[in-house]
Amino acid sequence: MIHLKNISKIYSNGTEALKNITLDIEPGEFVFIVGPSGAGKSTFLKLLIHEEKATFGRIRVNGYDLMKIKNRKVPYLRRTMGIVFQDFRLIEKMNVFDNIAFAMRAIGTPERAIRKRVSFVISAVGLTGKEKSRPSELSGGEQQRVSLARALVNNPEIIIADEPTGNIDPKMSFEIMKRLVDINKKGTTVIVVTHEHELVKEFGGRIIIINGGEIQRDERIPAKIHEQENEDENEGSGDNS
Ligand code: ADP
Repeated sequence: MIHLKNISKIYSNGTEALKNITLDIEPGEFVFIVGPSGAGKSTFLKLLIHEEKATFGRIRVNGYDLMKIKNRKVPYLRRTMGIVFQDFRLIEKMNVFDNIAFAMRAIGTPERAIRKRVSFVISAVGLTGKEKSRPSELSGGEQQRVSLARALVNNPEIIIADEPTGNIDPKMSFEIMKRLVDINKKGTTVIVVTHEHELVKEFGGRIIIINGGEIQRDERIPAKIHEQENEDENEGSGDNS
């Protein structure tokens, strides 16, 4: 659960990246954060994961008060969320399995439980057979799926995907979005940050438009994709509506 009340972020050079943002995201929501470059999207994400601290206001994430959180508690906050970074942030000297297992080893999970869970998330993202590959041996879309599997492995309450369509081709972006929708259907809150309005129109959900550090719009739009799933024969046909 995410609560922001009158949140402002002013960087040390005086840039006011977020201006008086008030916003709640409830468990199980699927939310797009949309806005042009420089709008404040990354700053918003950085506040959620406590990479940056808000200048004013109140912010609570998954039970943690981020205006008061102690440094030693930040890793616990971060364990409640899985993040799919735009640049994937995979460790090149580790294979796929170890990249994903890393987050579980870091919290001392027994090796047997790791093997079981990592195999499960690898199959969930469609990467079975690639366990021993290094990141550089994978396509961009596959690397992103490793990044998604790593985000999922500790069963987080929230998945945050930063521009999931930025570094891969349109077909793969569609793939990854479908996976995020499936994850959301199982109850995980999903937050997708993007500058692509097209993606939002396709998938629907709650759309929060940020511009100049302010919320310009916050609305829910229906998903086109679900209609398409039920009408397979229409797949690929033009939408003249
Ligand atoms: P977006 O992710 O939507 O492109 P950002 O949150 O990165 O937007 O940036 C919002 C504003 O804050 C921009 O004007 C940007 O230049 C500024 N900004 C971002 N990070 C910093 C920083 N570390 N120091 C100073 N200004 C920053």
